[in-house]
Amino acid sequence: MTNPFLNLNYETALESLGKDYYHPVTAAEFPAHILRFRNNELLPILGLNPKLVKDEDFIEAFGKFQSIRPFLALCYHGYQFGQYNPNLGDGRGFLYGQVRGIDNNLYDFGTKGSGQTPYSRFADGRLTLKGGVREVLAGEALHQLGVNTSRTLSLIETGESLWRGDEPSPTRSCVMIRFSRSHIRFGSFERLHYLKRPDLIEKLLNHVIYYYYPNIDVENKDCYAMFYAELVERVAKLTAQWMSSGFCHGVLNTDNMSITGESFDYGPYAFIPDYNFDFTAAYFDYAKRYCYGHQPLMCKLNLEMLQIPLKMVMSPEDLESGLIHFDHLYKDYYHQLMMKKLGIINLEIPETKDLLKETTNLLKESSISYHDFFAELAKSFNHGWLEDSSTILENVPLNSSNLEKWQNLYHQVLTQLPPENKEKIGNILRDSNPQTALLRPVIESVWEAIAYEDNWQPFQELLTKIRKKE
Ligand code: AMP
Ligand code: MG
Repeated sequence: MTNPFLNLNYETALESLGKDYYHPVTAAEFPAHILRFRNNELLPILGLNPKLVKDEDFIEAFGKFQSIRPFLALCYHGYQFGQYNPNLGDGRGFLYGQVRGIDNNLYDFGTKGSGQTPYSRFADGRLTLKGGVREVLAGEALHQLGVNTSRTLSLIETGESLWRGDEPSPTRSCVMIRFSRSHIRFGSFERLHYLKRPDLIEKLLNHVIYYYYPNIDVENKDCYAMFYAELVERVAKLTAQWMSSGFCHGVLNTDNMSITGESFDYGPYAFIPDYNFDFTAAYFDYAKRYCYGHQPLMCKLNLEMLQIPLKMVMSPEDLESGLIHFDHLYKDYYHQLMMKKLGIINLEIPETKDLLKETTNLLKESSISYHDFFAELAKSFNHGWLEDSSTILENVPLNSSNLEKWQNLYHQVLTQLPPENKEKIGNILRDSNPQTALLRPVIESVWEAIAYEDNWQPFQELLTKIRKKE
């Protein structure tokens, strides 16, 4: 076998846990295999040289699924929009394999759209091409924004016609490989609680700590408390990353929460156009449960729900004392990230707290979009701003009665920066605020070129822009 993907050194971490956690499945056979996206940026992590990996290698491994390993549909339940659903699990995907990266992390190759499994219920096990294109873009954009996210390794169009209620149908099909730290979810634990199997919870928890929390010793008597406290911190950090990036995940059900604190599964997500807490990404989220502004609250609630299964193997006090820290951890990370978007990495300056408040007030009132505000800051920053506060964003129509107050405060903070950091403001601004945002109309126009003309150039161009932070 010369296919580098088939020759990788696959580990059997999850498989070794035994059949209580998954169901072996086979992949669907597709009428066509057209490689639409290959993520060359991920190949070096796998120790592969992109120049030596052929398109055909992707197609054989991730479209035709030539493999000698078992594919595992993972079992999980979850709270969906607040209701417990025991009829979940990998219904259109499976764990293709697990590989150790050159960074020594273990990574999952997870499929999406690879055919039916015992968990498909009455659905087709397929992924629409538009859904795949949207997930590729989300992963790349979020990664560039510094969000701890899964990414897409490959996207292969598979030549079938799908029928969907939320896309003009028939619509095109694809199969995707998701590259992520793990596909173990909060819902994986919820299922084991439902099955009344504390023994299986303990085994899974030990596995999670061993592979994904390597700084915690599984032999330590406090290891579960330490794990939960670290998970709380990782989720708080992730939520702050979403919020500062203006990202609304859309479906924060517990089956979409990774036990590693990584962001994944991008369905109806959207980046917010205006700074509006009520903005809701999923059209079916009638109650606005997972709107942009609810995300910290919903993530904290999901962490609280996870206490139900974890209580089977650890003390409620340890869980309580872990969750207590969520609010201040979230606030601190959010403050830090928002200051970075303003070009500031010195958080000791006391006025930065007020600056955060005034910036969000300005954004609420102003007619400028969330993205444009920060993109303009990055584009128009000059050292004159440190001399005269009225020149800050002077040519940008902000239309806000708070403008002067905000300019003064921003000026006050900038002038207090130590000289070496004053020099860095422009670079920090440009690094934290890309010029291209993945707003819905941008994705739609890329998709229309694909749908009407089979023109993939706008998609490629958008990826290039996102990756160069242009
Ligand atoms: P998601 O909304 O993608 O997080 O999926 C929620 C649940 O529905 C998971 O158990 C999926 O595997 C399942 N599911 C979603 N779409 C399909 C489909 N087309 N075929 C089979 N199962 C699906
Ligand atoms: Mg999901």
